[in-house]
This record gives sequence, structure tokens and C-alpha cells, in this order.
Amino acid sequence: MMGKRVGKPSRKQKGDEILRILIVEDEKRLAETLVQIMTEHKYTADAVFDGESGFDYAMSGIYDVIVLDVMLPKRDGFSVVREMRRQRNATPVLMLTARDEIPDKVTGLDCGADDYLTKPFSPDELMARIRALSRRQGEVISNELTFGDLTLSLSAYSLQCGAKSVHLGFKEFEVLRLLMTNSSMVIPKEDLLVKVWGTESNAEDNNVEVYISFLRKKIAFLGSHVSIIAVRKIGYRLEE
Ligand code: CA
Repeated sequence: MMGKRVGKPSRKQKGDEILRILIVEDEKRLAETLVQIMTEHKYTADAVFDGESGFDYAMSGIYDVIVLDVMLPKRDGFSVVREMRRQRNATPVLMLTARDEIPDKVTGLDCGADDYLTKPFSPDELMARIRALSRRQGEVISNELTFGDLTLSLSAYSLQCGAKSVHLGFKEFEVLRLLMTNSSMVIPKEDLLVKVWGTESNAEDNNVEVYISFLRKKIAFLGSHVSIIAVRKIGYRLEE
């Protein structure tokens, strides 16, 4: 056990940007580096080095985001996240996978992880993912969103229509999740950009267009009656 402990854990408050991060990683040097990165960003971080401790700490419910390695002593990361979700713990989980282990990524998302990052990764990328996940916290009440004949699984990142389903990439998922959460409204492009790409990113408007076109292709592939309507100069909304 290491990391900064400052008295009693405090819940995140409105306007309070201090996030509490749990790091579950058995490579101690990497764990230490991650704690250091979090601390530099003024976050509070605790690190544990095996899956059993990781599960116990995760279930405390005090963390905003959990960074979870896959290969761990005592209990692997998939089993940790699967059991968390089974016990209705919805804390966002970012899984760390070894390089090019594609099946790991799929398994991770299937068992309820929210995102994954392949080692080695840059601190900037890690922080961007953590910020995106922390914004999502508290919204995962139901495990799925529906609109028309479409069902979006919030744990498996999949989109379903009838018997067909497709996996969505992280950004596709985030864009569609925002559209489905606010399905009666036109979502301004700038909102999508800020919420999905973050305020510090260099993404431009046409990134949104690219991901909207990916989503349209997937929705068409599913044979759905839902379409994403572009409202000129404003943004997008869903229509049946
Ligand atoms: Ca490991």
C-alpha cells in the first residue's frame, strides 16, 4: 500500500476537481510512476499490487476511477471487474493491457470495463482517458440506453438492433451515448467535442463528423430505423 492518504476519504463535490484514483498494478515501478503522475495532476492516488487487494479497495466505493492491470497476482483484472459489476459497483474502470493483446481488450470490455489502454502509453493519454471516465461517473445507473430499435450496452460498448449487434470504439460509444442520453435535443457539435475529446485536446469539428459517419455506417449495418440527423450549423440529434 502506498500513495497519498489525506485523512478521511472525501466525496467529490461540485466544482471540486480532485479525483481519487485507485491503481491496481503489480509492476511496482509502473505503479509508483502512475501515483506520481496522478499527484502531479493534483489527484489523490492509492496503489495496490494484487487483484485481491484491488477488489477490496475497489469495493470501498470511494474511488472516482480505477486503473486496473490485467495480469495480476492472486486475482486477474478481468475477474476483479466482473465481480465488481456483479455486485453493482459501477466505478469506471480503465484496464491496462499488454501490447497487441486484442483478445484481452475485448474480454475486458465484455466483463464490464469502461475503457482500456495498451502499454506502453503516454501520461497525457492516460490522463485524458481518466478525465473522460470521471465525467461518466454516476451516469451508469442502468446498464443500457435505448432509442427506437437501438440498445446501447454501457458495460459492453455494444450497439444492438434486433438480433444483430456491433462493438463500438471508445469515441463512437461516447458520441452515441450523449445523443441517446439527450435524445429529444439537438446536441451542439461543440458540446460533443468538449465532452468526448476534452477541453485540452486539439480535436476539431471534423473529428465529430468522422465519428458521426462511423456511427451512421454501424447503424445502417444493423438495419435500424434510427438515423443521426445533422441540424445545420448547430449539431446532431437522433430520429426514428
Ligand atoms: Ca501485471
